[in-house]
Amino acid sequence: MISVVIPLYNEEENIPQLKERLVKATESWSEPFECVLVNDGSHDKTPQMLNQLAEEDSRFRIIHFSRNFGHQPAISAGIHHAKGDAVIIMDGDLQDPPEILLEFINKWKEGYEVVYAVRTKRKEGFFKKLGYATFYRVLHAISDIDIPLDSGDFCLMDRKVVNALNQEMPENIRFIRGMRAYAGFKQIGVTYERQERAAGEVKYTFKKLMGLAIDGLIGFSIFPLRLATYFGFLVAFPSFFAGIFFIVHRLLNFKIFGYSPEDTPGIATLAVAIFFLGGIILIILGIIGEYLGRIYIEVKKRPFYIVDSIKQKE
Ligand code: UDP
Ligand code: MG
Repeated sequence: MISVVIPLYNEEENIPQLKERLVKATESWSEPFECVLVNDGSHDKTPQMLNQLAEEDSRFRIIHFSRNFGHQPAISAGIHHAKGDAVIIMDGDLQDPPEILLEFINKWKEGYEVVYAVRTKRKEGFFKKLGYATFYRVLHAISDIDIPLDSGDFCLMDRKVVNALNQEMPENIRFIRGMRAYAGFKQIGVTYERQERAAGEVKYTFKKLMGLAIDGLIGFSIFPLRLATYFGFLVAFPSFFAGIFFIVHRLLNFKIFGYSPEDTPGIATLAVAIFFLGGIILIILGIIGEYLGRIYIEVKKRPFYIVDSIKQKE
């Protein structure tokens, strides 16, 4: 059986088309399918529409969250509840076309355990595209594991991979595309053109998107922490030699570039140096704080989602 996991937050406009296109696409599959729809605390008609859907078709299971927990927790809940031998993750706004799932399934049958989608084109604004492109490249450069470029959560995972994520990675701050890469197994990318949102507004606010980006960078690399060491050496080494020079300059009292030690110029230089170093120290404190805050969240071991109810027709 194949499970399709879809997180939904206020997607009332997209549900009818989503169901229609998904069910149509599954007709070309030779395996039975189930669909786990996660209602991430929607406050439009999404919950009622999903219940209705479950009422009409017993292959659909609805997980209602007690409030909005976010996209990554919603996906995590979906893969916890999915029962299939392979689990597909896709968005509910039809940016990930259900029609290409057959290609994923065929790759899986060839023996690949993770089939992830790689976006060749994005139909989104210039700044968003630039932001995404930069993010994936920075992540790739500093991450300790090989997270493929331009691939989001849209993917198929074999049961083995899903079990690894569910059972061996209990972390609270979820960055699924990174965890999937971390899991290993035989992985392959399939290219596709990312579509425009079928209807409705983007549910990922700028703040949420930045949060996700920082979670990814910090969750999969300790390079930012090392920056402090690098900066430290960069500043300390030249300063040490400069210090020696100033002492010698004072003792021997010679003129260099027209200055003798008695002239005591350099207030501006001093001020700039202090502010510069102060800035660097604050940035580094901030970086340490980001890690510290995440350690705090992790040690509390709170559940990263809470289920209100589950609906499925017997
Ligand atoms: N989503 C969610 N919880 C949230 C935000 C988004 O479950 O807090 C869902 C949303 O309904 C959609 C998917 O996650 O199915 C991707 O969200 P969106 O399309 O807004 O983001 P983007 O396309 O920019 O990744
Ligand atoms: Mg979208």
